[in-house]
Amino acid sequence: MKDLNIQTIIKVCQYDELSDQDKQLIDKAKEMTQHSYAPYSKFKVGAAALLANGAIVTGSNQENAAYPSGLCAERTTLFYANSQYPDQAVLTLAIAARTEQDFIDNPIPPCGACRQVILETETRYKHPVRILLYGKKEIYLIKGIRDLLPLSFDGSEME
Ligand SMILES: [Zn+2]
Repeated sequence: MKDLNIQTIIKVCQYDELSDQDKQLIDKAKEMTQHSYAPYSKFKVGAAALLANGAIVTGSNQENAAYPSGLCAERTTLFYANSQYPDQAVLTLAIAARTEQDFIDNPIPPCGACRQVILETETRYKHPVRILLYGKKEIYLIKGIRDLLPLSFDGSEME
């Protein structure tokens, strides 16, 4: 028996340390929390995706009285990006969240279902999706979804 050691490296940054492009994506994700439809959780999430052609696609969480019928901001954004620009890889995805009071202190990570969809996006375009997770105290920069979804199932074993 042996241990399998899986390492994840996350860059912890402050807003000022980011490139102008990453700042813009964070700003858009924060702005998109205003378009969230979250009457049940009151937890407003926004996302912004930078595509290979330079387009920025945004989205927010959309809840439903029948809970599973709603959708997270990340998937709203990626499905829109992939349907509007089917030939453009997603380079970076920024995510921000707030309560009714304020943006949250610590970076908010995507849920398991969204991680799986980000993985599919990486696989589809054969390009990693950088992920920026916004928190008031700090921002996490992750170089690809495999750092958040180790031992992932990407369908390659089915071939
Ligand atoms: Zn999600």
